[in-house]
Amino acid sequence: MANKIVAPRDRKVRILATLGPASSGVEMIRALMIAGADAFRLNMSHGDHAVHAANIAAIRGLEKELGRPTTILADLQGPKLRVGQFANPPVMLEKGQTFILDSNPEPGDSTRVHLPHPEILAGMERGARLLIDDGKLVLRAIACHTGHVVTVVEVGGAISDRKGVNLPDVVIPLAALTDKDRRDLAFALDHHVDWIALSFVQRPEDVAEARTLIKGRAGVLAKLEKPQALARLEEVLEIADACMVARGDLGVELPPEAVPPAQKRIVATARAMGKPVIVATQMLESMITSPSPTRAEVSDVATAVYDGADAVMLSAETAAGAWPVEAVEIMDRIAQSVESDPTYHARVQFTETKADATTADALAEAAGDVTRTVGADAIICFTGTGSTARRVSRERPTVPILVLTPKLDAARRMGLLWGSHAVHTRDIGSFEEMIAKGKRMALRHGMGKAGSKLLMMAGVPFGTPGSTNVLHVATLTGEELKGYRGSSDS
Ligand code: PGA
Ligand code: MN
Repeated sequence: MANKIVAPRDRKVRILATLGPASSGVEMIRALMIAGADAFRLNMSHGDHAVHAANIAAIRGLEKELGRPTTILADLQGPKLRVGQFANPPVMLEKGQTFILDSNPEPGDSTRVHLPHPEILAGMERGARLLIDDGKLVLRAIACHTGHVVTVVEVGGAISDRKGVNLPDVVIPLAALTDKDRRDLAFALDHHVDWIALSFVQRPEDVAEARTLIKGRAGVLAKLEKPQALARLEEVLEIADACMVARGDLGVELPPEAVPPAQKRIVATARAMGKPVIVATQMLESMITSPSPTRAEVSDVATAVYDGADAVMLSAETAAGAWPVEAVEIMDRIAQSVESDPTYHARVQFTETKADATTADALAEAAGDVTRTVGADAIICFTGTGSTARRVSRERPTVPILVLTPKLDAARRMGLLWGSHAVHTRDIGSFEEMIAKGKRMALRHGMGKAGSKLLMMAGVPFGTPGSTNVLHVATLTGEELKGYRGSSDS
């Protein structure tokens, strides 16, 4: 991969596509990558390990073929709660009736059903709601006993086997990872995925627990889909490496009109803290069955881009829809359209970011200013772990960020970072080499011309992680342009 020259995307926001039955196999994944997918989500709630392994192998093969480091995110199912089974499903629950959830595994009826999660029965509180089947039914706990909870039906309807249960009002002492999650996690790490997404995070401790298992082998992404996690957003983000506005479950646990303000707050907070943030779910939902999106969906994707989210995600649109490639193409076009709006940069800069009192943060913050003042055409980051790139990306500069790293796993992980074009390439050993290589790589990736100023960031001594302390402005001369043309070393 080190020698391939790949044009940067014509947009800063990243596109994350979920793989599934509609998008498995090399041909389809290639088409999605060419259409604009920078990262892929494997949804561990569906599909077996053999299918996920085949998709991972396909992505890694295509990454070589197309020369573009590509990010793989394994999304763990998390403690998804479900009721047990019924003798004669579906069963109708009427508003005002009582209904019991208990520890008895016998099939249920219109008076009771098994709830195979002892932690909920133990941790339930009077007055708390249980939302069934994506919130279609609402039950409220009126009495909590050992082994059963009595509820009154507030919103009735049909209930059937294994329907989902959401608990927005109580923090249940559930383990952050189920046994299935642990098996899926081991599989994902064995297959060198780049990010692990944690579902139904309730507390910062949930993220911490996953971190101790992951041990740095992948980035840790917290899915924000519970109000309990929003109540401790800063603490959760402090521990996570990235986050997702998981609007599907969030819109079940919160009233739907509370989701847009939550999205704004999450994106702004994550950006201020320099943690990549993905906006997800129902972005182009109608494209599951239709080749073109609704105007409202286009506007929703555009809003996420104007808000400066790092990435936008496709779920069923690419996993199970009839138009997966078209969905990525439309998302790409929406992003390009928004980002070429003259007001885009001012809007993105509206979110304030605050640098830590470190040299690396100070230089990253300065990079944006220096770029504007000298009119630089690109920021070039020499980085091992990608932390410099993350800091620069946080500033949302107007020019491309070219990230040069000797570490392929770091290049892949950066696929979720706003505006970064990561290239896996040999390390540099000296200041002179940095300047020469930065110029050469900028030219190769179409980021400079004669007279261009290039901003370079690196750490001296070279090869020492976490030591960004150089901010250098280089100018490309016409002579150099001639010399570099045709050179093919990396
Ligand atoms: P899911 O997560 O698709 O795994 O449920 C995203 C969401 O809830 O929005
Ligand atoms: Mn979810």
